[in-house]
Amino acid sequence: MSEKNNEKIHAPGLTREELEQIVSDLGEPKYRAAQIFEALQKCRLDDITEITNLPKPLREKLAEKLSTKNLTVESRYVSEDGTRRFLMKTADNFPVETVFIPTENRDTICFSSQSGCPLQCDFCLTARLGLLRNLTAGEIVEQIIIVLNDVYGAGAETPHGTNLVGMGAGEPFLNFENLLKALSIMSDERGLHIVPNRVTVSTAGVIPKIYELAKKEKRPQLAVSLSAADDELRNKLMPINKRWKIADLMEACKEFEKTLRRGEKFTFEYVMLGGVNDTDEHARQLANLLNRHGLEKVKVNLIPHNPAEQLDYHPPDHEQVERFKEILASKGVSAYIRRPRGRDIYAACGQLAAKTTPNLIQIENPNG
Ligand code: SAH
Repeated sequence: MSEKNNEKIHAPGLTREELEQIVSDLGEPKYRAAQIFEALQKCRLDDITEITNLPKPLREKLAEKLSTKNLTVESRYVSEDGTRRFLMKTADNFPVETVFIPTENRDTICFSSQSGCPLQCDFCLTARLGLLRNLTAGEIVEQIIIVLNDVYGAGAETPHGTNLVGMGAGEPFLNFENLLKALSIMSDERGLHIVPNRVTVSTAGVIPKIYELAKKEKRPQLAVSLSAADDELRNKLMPINKRWKIADLMEACKEFEKTLRRGEKFTFEYVMLGGVNDTDEHARQLANLLNRHGLEKVKVNLIPHNPAEQLDYHPPDHEQVERFKEILASKGVSAYIRRPRGRDIYAACGQLAAKTTPNLIQIENPNG
């Protein structure tokens, strides 16, 4: 799937420079590109004929060439904690899920990089979908535009800063080019202006891309899903480990760490599965692993498992999560416990599986 759909080019996936090329091919001056880019990305318009600072004939010409909508919202669910899950579909009918997580001072949008996911992590519901397809850069950007318009009103100013996390469905590092292109479009100051620093991308451990990311100057923050500190257990939980082993992953992380700026850290995510990887011994193993590899600029996010009927795991006892954290701390590893958000609407980590369960509370679009 390219940025082209029905022979039209999907405009949210175009950089300002690419738009310049398109307008110059139409014999128009360059500044028109900036106007179009601002209209689509900053004002979040989804209809080219509404870009009123362009002459009408140009709007019509552009509308023949460009599309603005590849995604449509099928349903939206709201959690008792305010989290919203958007179930969308692509023009060719593949599910895409995006989650809006409000907090007091800022909002976080969790976007998907693929429809479904090719990795077969045993504790994750998204894995059950398998890989449907990679999302285009435009489909990644459009998720954010749709969510902001839905939450705040079409084109309305957003009262809080927006943080992004690439922690929805899919493995972002298996769709690396589209991901980076989307992030670069979103960081443009004349558009959404969400700078890389405000973006965290999570990988299950696609090692070559960690090295590639390490070389980039403008890059998002990195999170690595670990969930086990020994190969035997990690092979079972995350089969990607059979291809890229823990020792090699740690080496890649060490290289990445060397390129961090002062004060920066990166994250390991550790899904805690009751009775499987949550004992005191597992905590010591994890701390020893990080210490052995000399990883210092790291924090560990402990994520209590979000259960689902089809998954054979259960969350650990809360006291054990606390103990785990204390053991890490006693060995110099700082850890945080991630509070689950949106569990009741299948919006939490590892729960995105295009669920349309009717008994979930669906909301109408408050903005019409
Ligand atoms: N494929 C990437 C991006 C997905 S991020 C990755 O694996 O990092 C989703 C995060 O949720 C990952 O850290 C994953 O390990 C975690 N996760 C998956 N299933 C979960 C579940 N049922 N409960 C809690 N966390 C889960």
